[in-house]
Amino acid sequence: MMKPYDIAIIGGGVIGCSIARWVSKYRLKTILIEKHADVATETTKGNSAIIHAGYASSEGSLQSEMNVKGNPMFDQLQKEINFDFKRVGSFVVAFNDEDMKDLQKEQNQADKRNIPSEIITDIKRIKIMEPNIADNVKAVLYAPSAGIIWPFGLTIGLAENAYDNGVDLLFSSPVTEIQQKSNGFIIQAGQKQLNAKVIINAAGVYADEIARMVGADNFTITPRKGEYILMDRNAIPVNHILFPIPTPVSKGILVCPTIEGHTFIGPNSNAQNDKEDVSTTSAGLNEIIRGGRKLLPSIPLRKAIANFAGLRAVSDRDGDFIIEASEVENFINVAGICSPGLSSCLAIADLVTDIVKNHTTLSFGEKDSWNPIRFPQQRLKDMNEDTLAQAIKNRPEWGRVICRCETVTEAEIIDAIHRPIGATTLDMIKVRLRPRMGRCNGGFCTPKLLKILSRELDKLVTEIPKNDEGSEMVTDRTKFIENKPWKGETP
Ligand SMILES: Cc1cc2nc3c(=O)[nH]c(=O)nc-3n(C[C@H](O)[C@H](O)[C@H](O)COP(=O)(O)OP(=O)(O)OC[C@H]3O[C@@H](n4cnc5c(N)ncnc54)[C@H](O)[C@@H]3O)c2cc1C
Repeated sequence: MMKPYDIAIIGGGVIGCSIARWVSKYRLKTILIEKHADVATETTKGNSAIIHAGYASSEGSLQSEMNVKGNPMFDQLQKEINFDFKRVGSFVVAFNDEDMKDLQKEQNQADKRNIPSEIITDIKRIKIMEPNIADNVKAVLYAPSAGIIWPFGLTIGLAENAYDNGVDLLFSSPVTEIQQKSNGFIIQAGQKQLNAKVIINAAGVYADEIARMVGADNFTITPRKGEYILMDRNAIPVNHILFPIPTPVSKGILVCPTIEGHTFIGPNSNAQNDKEDVSTTSAGLNEIIRGGRKLLPSIPLRKAIANFAGLRAVSDRDGDFIIEASEVENFINVAGICSPGLSSCLAIADLVTDIVKNHTTLSFGEKDSWNPIRFPQQRLKDMNEDTLAQAIKNRPEWGRVICRCETVTEAEIIDAIHRPIGATTLDMIKVRLRPRMGRCNGGFCTPKLLKILSRELDKLVTEIPKNDEGSEMVTDRTKFIENKPWKGETP
């Protein structure tokens, strides 16, 4: 019989992948189990991608503790595993005297937590920093340590580094049953049955359902949807993250640059029962347009290229994070990780590692061979003319642009397919390199991507899924796509 795992982490979002990377430092046999074909496919995929400065969460909450500790940890991690992240700074925007009181409250909280911040009342200065901000702005609370990130890059980087350091990754394997035994657990994950001494439940909006499988569900999770509109690159320059005064349940509808040079507006915040429904509605989009226009009246809606939504996993413990050893021995809940979960993920991984150390009998010897460094794949956007010319000489695929909107070459796509966690679906290519994320939404490049995947994986085009099994986009032969693996050179 196979040796049991020391640790099984359920959930391959940013939280599960951070924990996997953290525990990979130790001589522990660890597996991460994810129901989808890739990491970062649920809440980690649909959010504002902000690393919050840390002043906003309620005093005394675990959210505030994790955010304050987590924010500064991103600089070192960026050096180690390489992902796109920039501290652009945030503004909370006040329009009247009532708002000024809230601004002052937020600044007091920032001071108490040693977070650098400044209330700027000089309108000229505000306008220089943010030229398109609403003319009726009265003041802003500026927090320079807030940043923007590429959540896919972060999560894939964490997962790849965990994998390089010996963590097993099991995809397309939903956990459907957990049995508690005297020496651990038996987990049914897809077709596989696994044994593990310790389980870490990081299943996002499903964390209560996973906990219920062993009777460790002394909490519930309610999804709270947030909708967004994404603008084309350079549609309107926005330099900082622009927040309104927060509401009791969310940070409000904001306007924000993305790390790739786009701008988005959103999210709203509406509770729902359905844990799968990430549809957008015209009522919801109108709500965020109204909210966004208060901060930036000239938002060019004609340059919108996509709408999307994400689900916050909100706990019934005042909406705070639940990170604790449960009443069931060796079963640890990491649940209710709503916002600011992305900003807190590294601090959460640290805390969970301590909880496992203190509440289980696993021995935490450090690996001599642990390597914190993960090398990213080479990207066209990082090359200058000379290196590109040399690269094309060595490999002509560097000269073939497959995605025109985001300028992605065939060489990059081939490399993504053959990385340690190789991209085997259209969406895996999309979240690693961005083809199909630009203004044409894949109209031009999708057939080309299908052909490259077919050739590199030696599969029929009809066998290439969009994401999970059963999501294949091409169902039959046409005059252009032959019913055999594509062997051509130029797609
Ligand atoms: C609208 C919105 C805006 C936000 N903005 C920000 C922000 O700007 N900054 C910030 O810090 N935070 C933000 N957040 C919060 C942040 O996105 C989350 O805290 C974070 O992504 C949670 O990650 P996770 O790993 O817990 O969940 P997920 O990413 O949902 O991962 C959980 C994983 O568990 C898997 N899973 C579930 N059930 C099973 C099963 N039975 N078997 C196997 N696998 C299973 C799922 O497939 C999923 O991949 C926002 C969230 C939303 C929704």
